[in-house]
Amino acid sequence: MLLVQKYGGTSVGSLERIRAVARRVSEAARSGAKVAVVVSAMSGETDRLLRLAMEISERPDEREMDLLLSSGERVSAALTALALRQMGVTARSFTGRQCGIITDGAHTRARIETISAGRLMRALDRGEVAVIAGFQGISSSGDGDVTTLGRGGSDLTAVALAAALKADLCEIYTDVEGVYTADPGIVPEARKLDRISYEEMLELASLGAKVLQTRSVEFAKKYGVPLVVRSSFNDMPGTYITKEDEEMEKVLVSGVTCDKNQSKLTLLGAPDKPGIASRLFSEIAGAGLVVDMIVQNISADGKSADISFTVPRTDSRRAVEITGRLARDLGARGVDVKEEISKVSIVGVGMRTHSGVASKMFDALASHNINILMISTSEIKVSCVIDSKYAELAVRVLHEAFGLEKAA
Ligand code: ASP
Ligand code: MG
Repeated sequence: MLLVQKYGGTSVGSLERIRAVARRVSEAARSGAKVAVVVSAMSGETDRLLRLAMEISERPDEREMDLLLSSGERVSAALTALALRQMGVTARSFTGRQCGIITDGAHTRARIETISAGRLMRALDRGEVAVIAGFQGISSSGDGDVTTLGRGGSDLTAVALAAALKADLCEIYTDVEGVYTADPGIVPEARKLDRISYEEMLELASLGAKVLQTRSVEFAKKYGVPLVVRSSFNDMPGTYITKEDEEMEKVLVSGVTCDKNQSKLTLLGAPDKPGIASRLFSEIAGAGLVVDMIVQNISADGKSADISFTVPRTDSRRAVEITGRLARDLGARGVDVKEEISKVSIVGVGMRTHSGVASKMFDALASHNINILMISTSEIKVSCVIDSKYAELAVRVLHEAFGLEKAA
C-alpha cells in the first residue's frame, strides 16, 4: 500500500497541529503503508510573506517571489519531519527540487512538466516516510530556478506525486469533513457527500467551492488518481472523488454552489455584423482576462446586438476600459457594468440522463421572485447569474427544491 497524504495550512497551523499530523502519519506508516506526506505552509504564512514583499516593492519580481513563497512549505516540511523523528519514525524532508518536480518557467503559476520520483521512491522503499514541501518545483529552462504552482498548489503537488508514485490513494487532509451538497455556512442542512465524480468535483471546484484547487482535480481526472478529502481533526471517512459510475447517475443534482466574484458587462447596441464578437473577445483575451459566460441578443429589427459577458470581479475595470474603447470605435451605444452579481449553479452527472432539471431550477428561483440575468448550461451543470443580494437565498431555495438534505 502506497499512500500520499496532503495536509493543508490549518492542519499544520501550529506545533500542536504538526504533532497531531505526525501521529496520524506514524499510524499509517506503522500499519505497513509506504507514506509520502505533502504539506502546505502553516496557515496564514503565504499571505504574510506576500505582504512583506508588497511592503518592499509594489510589483515584486516574480522569480524572487517564488523563492520567498516556497519557503513557507519548507518550514512545515522540516518541522513535520522533525516531529516524526521525535516519535521514532524515520522521516526525511524533500523540497520540490529534491523530489524531482520539474515545471515550466512561468513564475508564481508554473505548470508541472515532469516528475522524476526516483529518489522519493527509494526513500519509501527503504521504509522512510517522505515529507514533501508542497506548492513548488524547479524550472526546466536554463538555471533550474525555484518555481511555485499557484495559490493552493500543494493539492497539485500531492495529486501529481500520487500519479508519479502510482499511489493507491491520495488523501487530502483539511479543516472540513469533505465535500458538501452546499456551503454549510449558507445551508445548515447541507450534507457531506460520500462520493462524487471527478467531473462534478471539477465543476464545484471551479464554481467556487474551495475544498480543492481546480488544477489538482483536473490532474487527478486525467491520470485517474483516486482521491479522498477528509478532516485532519477527526476520523470521519470524508468524500471519495472517483470515476463516474451508474450509481452516481441516479442522483439528479449533487451540489449547489455560488460564485460571488464575477462582474457582468454588456456591450450595448453594437452593429450586427460579422467580426464584432471576435474583436471584443480577442481584445479581452489579449489583455489576459478570462471570460466565463457569454450571451448575445440581436434586436428585433435585426440591426444591432447586445453582448453580455462575465469576468472575475478583480478584472472588471480592465474589461470596462477595453469594451468602452471598442464601443466608441464601433459607434455602439455604450457599456453597461453590473458588479453586484452572483452565479449560482447546480451540478450533477445525473443531468446527462434526466430532463427537466433546468426548468425545475428556474421554477424554484421564480417562486421566490429571484430574477435571472443570464443562463448557461453544460452537460452536468446549470448556472444562473442573479443579483448578489439573493445569492444565499437562491442557494437555500435550490438545495431544498432538489431535496439535497436527504441522503440519496
Ligand atoms: N501555501 C500556498 C498557498 O497558500 C499553497 C497551498 O497552501 O496549497 O496558496
Ligand atoms: Mg488549500
